Amino acid sequence: MEVKVLQNILQANDAFAEENRRFFREKRILVLNVMGSPGSGKTTLIEKTIRMLEDRYNFAVIEGDVASTIDADKLSKLDIPVAQINTEPFGGACHLEANWIRQSTESFDLDKIDMIFIENVGNLVCPAEFDTGAHKNIVILSIPEGEDKPAKYPLMFRVSHAMVISKLDLIDAVGCDMELLHENLKKVNDGIIRFKVSSKSGEGFDDWLKWVQNEIEGIKK
Ligand code: MG
Ligand code: ZN
Repeated sequence: MEVKVLQNILQANDAFAEENRRFFREKRILVLNVMGSPGSGKTTLIEKTIRMLEDRYNFAVIEGDVASTIDADKLSKLDIPVAQINTEPFGGACHLEANWIRQSTESFDLDKIDMIFIENVGNLVCPAEFDTGAHKNIVILSIPEGEDKPAKYPLMFRVSHAMVISKLDLIDAVGCDMELLHENLKKVNDGIIRFKVSSKSGEGFDDWLKWVQNEIEGIKK
């Protein structure tokens, strides 16, 4: 019985997600869904990316959190439209659903936006099950989380088009077996695009920014 209910919820969500993807493509707006554990560096990556590309493109952000507006407040300082989704009124859901995404963009002037970042609720489980309708999914894995995460949370790494390894500056302090990480990834999603960054030193951002720009330009065609 409960399995059936969940199936129906997921099916309804998938339909909304497809509709979102089509809608934003028609509007020539790229939507990237950023997922990852709490503390993996999602907000920081989004903030830094926007700062480095804000002269060329207009951004907006949808912030998903169970409670609080801490991250949304931080991103509002960039002087861009930010929509906050708190899932506490919806039973504290630990993911974002596609129809909430669409509703939250109603406050945006979509004709003036090139790209929307979704910062999903922090965890490696159900954000992977609920398609938001983003054009690309990004998973952030910070060095302290360790090399075993693709093996433990395969769906998250399977549904992601790109992975950003963050907090690279901590590798000497905490250690992370990069070879084993890539091996674990290979088993679940060999084709995933990989980036390694340190938001602290700026290392690795060139490749990441190039990829984001390429995606923005791609949707304009
Ligand atoms: Mg955050
Ligand atoms: Zn959830």
